[in-house]
Amino acid sequence: MKRVYNFSAGPSMLPLPVLEKAQAELTSYGDTGMSVMEMSHRTPEYEAIIIGAEKSLRELMSIPDNYRVLFLQGGASSVFSSVCYNLLTGSGKADYIVSGQFSKKAYKEAQKYGDIRLAASSEDKNNTYVPQITADDVRPDADYVHICFNNTIYGTKYNYIPDTGDVPLVADMSSCILSEPVDVSRFGVIYAGAQKNVAPAGLTIVIVRDDLLGRCRPDTPVMYDWKLMADNGSMYNTPPCWPIYIAGMVFDWLLENGGLESMKEKNLKKAGLLYDYLDSQDYYIAPVEKPYRSMMNVTFVTGNPDLDKKFAKESTESGLRNLKGHRSVGGMRASIYNAMPVEGVEKLIAFMKDFAERNPK
Ligand SMILES: *Cc1c(COP(=O)(O)O)cnc(C)c1O
Repeated sequence: MKRVYNFSAGPSMLPLPVLEKAQAELTSYGDTGMSVMEMSHRTPEYEAIIIGAEKSLRELMSIPDNYRVLFLQGGASSVFSSVCYNLLTGSGKADYIVSGQFSKKAYKEAQKYGDIRLAASSEDKNNTYVPQITADDVRPDADYVHICFNNTIYGTKYNYIPDTGDVPLVADMSSCILSEPVDVSRFGVIYAGAQKNVAPAGLTIVIVRDDLLGRCRPDTPVMYDWKLMADNGSMYNTPPCWPIYIAGMVFDWLLENGGLESMKEKNLKKAGLLYDYLDSQDYYIAPVEKPYRSMMNVTFVTGNPDLDKKFAKESTESGLRNLKGHRSVGGMRASIYNAMPVEGVEKLIAFMKDFAERNPK
């Protein structure tokens, strides 16, 4: 079997033991004689899968009892709208921090629904850092403050949890969820598309404090009504059955491997190897300011677009896939989510050294 080191930002690598278990169970799950893909979501077997997945996620993230976990469809991008339907109903005001492309998309989408203010932005320096904000920077009567906790495209991450006073903090954690422990109680809502660090595409996880439910706009599309979804155990309609099944196995794989503390240790090690190398030489440039470096998405450039192109091509040929940066920023990006082994990062560094020697500037 050939497996490459896949540095894709998403959809991205999944743990091999999970893929192998899915393979073993592909045509018959347990003694059901059918695949999970063929199974009604209204069967006891499937109920056990979805309930088990939620239970494991709660344990993994230490999610307090007053938070509900929703398994939805639509991608993280659908939450850019649904958060407005669900929360923008008090003062109708929300404050957004723009620190990259996804937070900007969220900010733009929200403008359709209320009085949306840009509280801070890092666009002045091409999103190479994350704005520092305090409770004084947000409107005290805002319905929520929205941030993107890890900026997948630029490779930056919040190195603090903003204090927003009594205003609920809503965080897009699509590309950092489960990479390290996080104090869920500091957030009103945490959401994530699953295809970065959790499961195949098609599943969107929303973790919401229960006092924020039940106040959605009257014209809320039924599929965006988080309370309805919560009341129905995410099964008001057919849930994304297969991605939830895989996600459950990923949660269990994480629990079996020491949980998020040990995942953080492993991720720090991987990112540390790469950043230490980047800091030790001057062939590659890492544009992100050090305190805001992402542990999941590491960006760098040679400074020469032709060399960047050559790097992408030759690394692909060496079995290191998807290192090309996002089409909007160019350069290179190594996404090193939980499933990327340390050896993948070591191979990448060896390739980077070799490439630099062979292609003097
Ligand atoms: C990938 C990504 C998104 C978009 O996710 P979809 O599931 O494709 O809608 C949003 N936010 C962040 C931080 C992402 O990394």
